[in-house]
Amino acid sequence: MKAIVFEQHGSPDVLKYIDVPQPAIKPNEVLVRVKACALNHLDLWVRLGLPGVPIPLPHIPGSDVAGEIAQVGSEVTSVRVGQKVVLAPGVTCGKCPACVSGLDNRCRYFTNLGYMIDGGCAEFVRVPEVNCLPYPENLSFEEAAAVPLVFQTAWHMLVGRAQLQPGEDVLILGASSGVGSAAIQIAKFFGARVIATAGTDEKLQKAKRLGADHGINHKSQKIRAGTATWDESIASLAPSGRLVTCGATTGFDARIDLRFLFSRQLSLLGSYMGTKSELYTVMKLVAAGRLKPVVDRVFPLSQAAAAHAYLESSSQFGKVVLRV
Ligand SMILES: [Zn+2]
Repeated sequence: MKAIVFEQHGSPDVLKYIDVPQPAIKPNEVLVRVKACALNHLDLWVRLGLPGVPIPLPHIPGSDVAGEIAQVGSEVTSVRVGQKVVLAPGVTCGKCPACVSGLDNRCRYFTNLGYMIDGGCAEFVRVPEVNCLPYPENLSFEEAAAVPLVFQTAWHMLVGRAQLQPGEDVLILGASSGVGSAAIQIAKFFGARVIATAGTDEKLQKAKRLGADHGINHKSQKIRAGTATWDESIASLAPSGRLVTCGATTGFDARIDLRFLFSRQLSLLGSYMGTKSELYTVMKLVAAGRLKPVVDRVFPLSQAAAAHAYLESSSQFGKVVLRV
């Protein structure tokens, strides 16, 4: 099969479009013919290499997949060959206390497609049967692939961790990111007032079309995003405010003034991916047209390197997707 493979970490040109053997499935797995694979910032980290994260090489990246079932293992009962599917990106053990209580994003064996295992930037990908989600028939493959990782992450941040309440004010940093464009819609769905930041006025207009009530251009006004935004993010919190973060794109060193933390009764919340249960809820709302993936640009699989460079330039609004 054709696949995007890298044998060493580095700039986008380490991504090679080559022939590799089709994956062999286990009894509890399915083989999916990939139709579209959306990129995430995670793909850039995986390609660049992360300290202390031994990505197996050579490696096929890609976490967000929509496609059709091509083959099923002998123990598979819930999907059939030819069925359209969207895949949950998180692969877990399925047996530990976290997994069986539905908190699978706390599984110690948690990984994503395309992270510690091969992903969907290929004609075929193998996944456990339990990762197959119902396909939202109102969406194209490119749109469907743009949903899982970012909507699951944004849902877990706002609903699972921050327990967003109707009428609250939400500041969303980076409206043009995949997570940002999902978070605006989810926050509005819960009846919040949304203030979104972006680096251009054009992106802020798009954020408002998605439902944001107010926009802040972080190039011209104070508020930037990671280490770069931390102090201002803390300062932006209302008394009893919650700060929830799902990454460290601009760096991982942060300091906190404990006087503000206790006297203003602030909460600092980390959030990592989301649960499959949350993803089922998201997919139901997507199928009903209540939440919509935002696809910025589609590249053919063979041009994955150009797609990575484009995502790295931060000029997109929403998702960059590879068509297979
Ligand atoms: Zn587990």
